[in-house]
Amino acid sequence: MSQLETLSPHCPFDISNSFPFSDSFPGSPRSCSTPSVVHEFLSKSPSTLIAVDSGLGDSRISDDEVIFPSLPPLRNGHPDVQLRNGIMRASRLAAANEPGAENAFFVADLGQVYMQHERWKKCLPEIEPHYAIKCNPDPYILRLLASLGVGFDCASAGEINQVLNIGGIDPSRIIFANPCKATSFIRSAAKSGIDKMTFDNIDELYKIARVHPSAKLIVRILADDSKSICRFGIKFGAPLDAVSGLLSKAKELNLDVIGVSFHVGSGCYDPSVYTDAIRRARAAFDIGKDVGYEFNLLDVGGGFEDALFEKAAGVLTEAIDLYFPDRCNLRMISEPGRFYVSNAFRLAANVIAKRGKMADNLSDTVPDETDQPCVMYYINDGVYGAFNCILFDHQTVHPYVLSLNGSFHVAASERLSNSSVWGPTCDSMDCISKNVALPSALQTGDWLGFDNMGAYTICAASQFNGFELSNVIYTTGDGGGAEVRRALAAFAAKGNGLER
Ligand SMILES: *Cc1c(COP(=O)(O)O)cnc(C)c1O
Repeated sequence: MSQLETLSPHCPFDISNSFPFSDSFPGSPRSCSTPSVVHEFLSKSPSTLIAVDSGLGDSRISDDEVIFPSLPPLRNGHPDVQLRNGIMRASRLAAANEPGAENAFFVADLGQVYMQHERWKKCLPEIEPHYAIKCNPDPYILRLLASLGVGFDCASAGEINQVLNIGGIDPSRIIFANPCKATSFIRSAAKSGIDKMTFDNIDELYKIARVHPSAKLIVRILADDSKSICRFGIKFGAPLDAVSGLLSKAKELNLDVIGVSFHVGSGCYDPSVYTDAIRRARAAFDIGKDVGYEFNLLDVGGGFEDALFEKAAGVLTEAIDLYFPDRCNLRMISEPGRFYVSNAFRLAANVIAKRGKMADNLSDTVPDETDQPCVMYYINDGVYGAFNCILFDHQTVHPYVLSLNGSFHVAASERLSNSSVWGPTCDSMDCISKNVALPSALQTGDWLGFDNMGAYTICAASQFNGFELSNVIYTTGDGGGAEVRRALAAFAAKGNGLER
């Protein structure tokens, strides 16, 4: 029986204890500020909390939390509060012997997405973002960005349908930004009224000429992606010396090429590469002119990282000023994915098992050093689920303690042990963290938290080995909440976004 199941259903966690962030567990990424909403939460007595959050199901849902009846409610309150609510709810469900009571769950803060959009508008006001939906096609994210007037970068017929089915999104707001498309996808894009699409090879031109001759084409050129975590250059992008031949062929086929795109690679850690990419785009514009095209669209792609965004925007703006000084007839767009969603999602996962290290098995491969993990924790989401980002997106994740021994309070004095953290499947590749310091007292039933889980996580999660995908609790925190609700309510009032 897990520790979780032994907790009292009434006040399972010690919320009267001092607030965990004030002296939080070392290594917790959020050990600094105490959000005001949480103060409010804590100033209520435990009995008030239980009245608000009663029964075994969800806490009472207020009217302003239901905007799209087909979607889960959009909660009010800081994501930290929602993480705690989710954990307390899990404890009540466990006490009632509900299956899957302790399932891992996400908390998504839509206010964070709104604030990223504000940042975009402030730093790159001339560039219209087209959200790359492959990064996280969450129904709330798509609705919010649609309501804010953002466009969309789709790579398949499925993604195009997903965006168009929301309603209220004109096909002209979509760019089909996959340079190698199935013919049937090009045909269905034509049927849906989607004209803007990228190409980087001659074969694509023949296909487009055949099934969508009036398409507005964008030549995707190769950019230096050596400063990015996920490189695209080995798969996509025409080198500059191939552009002339491609454009001549397009001209011969009577196709309309309107501009140039590039992608510096996803997770770009050296924004200086944008300068070179813009220089190459300028060269492609000039080649276009020689071939007889008058380009008017520049698509600067994605790759924007949250932490480096202002720097990237500065480099980009400077390069655009340098290479495109006269741009009254130039429309500029982009395809950010990660930037919008990465920091909006947190994951809470339950410790489902704990054991000592496999000393004998590892002795061949791991030298017997004292900093080697001596405790193994198994949690209920892994690399076949949300943590596929470790394999596919080359991410490193940093677990921190959300609850310890039934309390949200983690004393700074907790003794730490080098630990490893594993996913729930039977595959030994399912490792989340090879070596991380966690409190020695951490045990089955406790919860670990992970930040920055919004990009390239849920979208590629599988149900391998019979493990379910983790649910999402949606909320708006202390930034942008009112604006998010206003934008979504106005969107819904026009009849948009109502179908699931
Ligand atoms: C994946 C992808 C993006 C998004 O990249 P981010 O690094 O998440 O911003 C944009 N454009 C294209 C063509 C992509 O394949």
